[in-house]
Amino acid sequence: MRRISIFGATGSIGQSTIDLIRRDREAYDVVALTGGANVDLLAHDARALGAKVAVTAYEDKLPALKDALAGSDIHAAAGAHALIEAADRPADWIMSAIVGAAGLAPGLHALKHGTTLALANKESLVTAGPLLMREAHAHGTRILPVDSEHSAVFQGMVGEERAEVERVIITASGGPFRDWSLEQLAGATLAQACTHPSWDMGQRITIDSASMFNKALEIIETHEYFGFSGDMIEVLVHPGSYVHALVGFKDGALMAHLGAPDMRHAIGYALHWPERRHLPVERLDLAKIGSLRFEAPDEVRFPALRLARDVMEIGGLAGAVFNAAKEAALDAFIAGEIGFLDMARHVESVLNQMSSTASLGNAALTLDTVLEADKEARARVRAAVARA
Ligand code: NAD
Ligand code: MG
Repeated sequence: MRRISIFGATGSIGQSTIDLIRRDREAYDVVALTGGANVDLLAHDARALGAKVAVTAYEDKLPALKDALAGSDIHAAAGAHALIEAADRPADWIMSAIVGAAGLAPGLHALKHGTTLALANKESLVTAGPLLMREAHAHGTRILPVDSEHSAVFQGMVGEERAEVERVIITASGGPFRDWSLEQLAGATLAQACTHPSWDMGQRITIDSASMFNKALEIIETHEYFGFSGDMIEVLVHPGSYVHALVGFKDGALMAHLGAPDMRHAIGYALHWPERRHLPVERLDLAKIGSLRFEAPDEVRFPALRLARDVMEIGGLAGAVFNAAKEAALDAFIAGEIGFLDMARHVESVLNQMSSTASLGNAALTLDTVLEADKEARARVRAAVARA
């Protein structure tokens, strides 16, 4: 039996992971499940899977979690410390699917056990990529990408030499505002930003897809995980979301990965790697789809893409600043405090401020320096939002 833990079990990726595990219940021994405010769902899944421990991120939710687990022998715990403790429980396969930089510390701890970390939490690679990769290397832990584009690149490179790769193209659906003008984007509402044309995901990543901040994070994620330089990484808008990524080789060949827009594909690949097993995902009928559309991305309407290039250029703590500023700006947009286009403006401004005042690019990367840069970037965005 494989011992499995799922961080962010109550979210979109967490639930898709649980769906796969429940289909083959006897194969897995579930160690820890973690979630946030939805303790009823967390307790329900912990019971269904026979987990040893269930952890809510929020201390004030512990009584409710204990109530929901009453009569079971599942240990209930809460708070940041409990998340770290859960990450320290030995498991053979750990899903990192907390949203945001909050996933970094549990992920880093999970890496210490020399097993496999399935990484959906792209923010941890963006904020602290070199730290994460170093830690994985030091403990012999394998990180498998779960983002659909990165899983596609990973699969496209099986049996290939990294040195043969000339370019990597990650696709973007373009989100709900793909063909909106700047004027329209300025007035985009929260409800409009929360409807994604092809993927069903958590609220935050859905809005990040509308602003292309998600793709910006993914450019940096590609750079950090595979080690490709920024000029090798391209973004291609592909509204259908059938082609997830393409790997281009030095002879000009492009290997494309196609599949239905269903995260159970990338999750299942990471779960069964290095094998392939049957997965309950739709099989594409390409004749029915008929044609595949592609467009160049527009960095004027979607400045996040341009900022990702700046972040890679600066290096060091720039990723931590970029991600944290983005998270704080997203909070402000969700709260109705700023407009849709203001998000990128605030992020760019804080990135500029912090890269000119501090030696962001040369700073040593440790969990402490990353968390400090994260805190400062958030505070700067909040202050700017309050001033505006
Ligand atoms: P989600 O919002 O649906 O779920 C997030 C999970 O994290 C929930 O379990 C929530 O309780 C938990 N959580 C939230 N804040 C927390 C905190 N401060 N501390 C601890 N736990 C917290 O998000 P999602 O869409 O499942 O995305 C999860 C991660 O996977 C993100 O990093 C996202 O970028 C990445 N990802 C998601 C998709 C997708 O299709 N949803 C695709 C690719 C990558
Ligand atoms: Mg993705």
